[in-house]
Amino acid sequence: MAHLSTQSVTDVHHWNESLFSFKTTRDRSLRFESGHFVMLGLEVQGKPLMRAYSIASPNYDKELEFLSIKVADGPLTSKLQNIKVGDELLVSSKPTGTLVVDHLLEGRNLYLISTGTGLAPFVSIIQDPSVYERFDKIVLTHGVRFTSELAYQQLINDELPNNEFFGNDVKRKLVYYPSVTREEFCNRGRITDLMLSGKLFKDIGLSRANPEHDRFMICGSPSMLKDTCNILNVWGFRESRRGIRAHYVIERAFAE
Ligand SMILES: Cc1cc2nc3c(=O)[nH]c(=O)nc-3n(C[C@H](O)[C@H](O)[C@H](O)COP(=O)(O)OP(=O)(O)OC[C@H]3O[C@@H](n4cnc5c(N)ncnc54)[C@H](O)[C@@H]3O)c2cc1C
Repeated sequence: MAHLSTQSVTDVHHWNESLFSFKTTRDRSLRFESGHFVMLGLEVQGKPLMRAYSIASPNYDKELEFLSIKVADGPLTSKLQNIKVGDELLVSSKPTGTLVVDHLLEGRNLYLISTGTGLAPFVSIIQDPSVYERFDKIVLTHGVRFTSELAYQQLINDELPNNEFFGNDVKRKLVYYPSVTREEFCNRGRITDLMLSGKLFKDIGLSRANPEHDRFMICGSPSMLKDTCNILNVWGFRESRRGIRAHYVIERAFAE
């Protein structure tokens, strides 16, 4: 198991009955780019049980943070949801993934489109000062069913704008746009409908997305990815493939 390291859980936070996040120690040799994922898991009956997990913490943090779903009969998360501080987890040593800013062409506005746990890689990206240097606006959308699933609101609304190093950039550039489908909320509906109707762009004071100056990173359910890619393709955007820079990048938040 040379490619796996054992890390200790340092913090666990349950957002609601279906979502939790946790922090672990970080191997000093682990390097990753904001937006990458690792394989993470537990040893079960003497064997590693591993799943892909986006890293939610910034790449300069000495700990790692993850946001996780709780699937009642899920092989890993039925156990993982019971972890406590001091427990041991396995973490792969080679982070990877397509959600990296370097796969995008230069642009003016960066849209981070997420549903559910697809928010996780973007929590890392919005804590990366270099992203604020590259873009004029960073628009973080998070689509969920219920408001209780809107994780990390305090970090986004209160902590980051007051960050001593890049808080001023966050105040000027980060636009947070949560949306909810199954409860009353100011932004009600699917993010794809809010894009198509133009409400998203009107609400944040930007013109409809245009491949000339807008870039997209998308992470969510397979159906959300499909619908969003369809919209962007019709609007003239091109997806980055094999690391060749283009207008948008995608990653599944889970496999169906
Ligand atoms: C590139 C990539 C990155 C991922 N990052 C994360 C992450 O940061 N956080 C995370 O919780 N999961 C993430 N996943 C999903 C994760 O790998 C596991 O599927 C998840 O932890 C459940 O594991 P399990 O063994 O309990 O159930 P599995 O057998 O893996 O899944 C059972 C079923 O649960 C549903 N499901 C699984 N994961 C999710 C999810 N995240 N949201 C909604 N429904 C889901 C699906 O219908 C799936 O068929 C990622 C997957 C990929 C491919």
